[in-house]
Amino acid sequence: MRSPTWYKIPIGKFKITYPSKISKYSYGMYYAKNGNIEIKRNLSHNIKAQTIVHEIVHALCTSKGFFKQKERDVEMITESVVHFIKENPYIIKYIQSNDNSIIESIK
Ligand SMILES: [Zn+2]
Repeated sequence: MRSPTWYKIPIGKFKITYPSKISKYSYGMYYAKNGNIEIKRNLSHNIKAQTIVHEIVHALCTSKGFFKQKERDVEMITESVVHFIKENPYIIKYIQSNDNSIIESIK
C-alpha cells in the first residue's frame, strides 16, 4: 500500500512528505507553522505507521491549544491508538459508515 500523503483533522487537511533528508535523531517531524508532517524514507511499514500516528498526535494536541507535549505522553497515546485501530477494524468501519451528522452531535 502507498504511503499516505495527507491527513485531515478538524482544523484542516495537511501534507505528509517523505524527504530524503530529515534529522538523524528522529523518524518524523511535525511543523506547527504549516501543519505538515515529514516522515523519514525507507522505514518499515510498522515503524512508518507508528511515526505517522505519533506526528498526528502532536498535530491534534497543538490544534487544541495543548502546545507543550511530552514525548513520553505522545508515545503512550500513539501506542494505544495504533493498537486500538489494529485490533478494532469493526469499530473503525462502524464509525466511518454513519453520515456526518454523528460528528455534529458530538460537538
Ligand atoms: Zn514527538
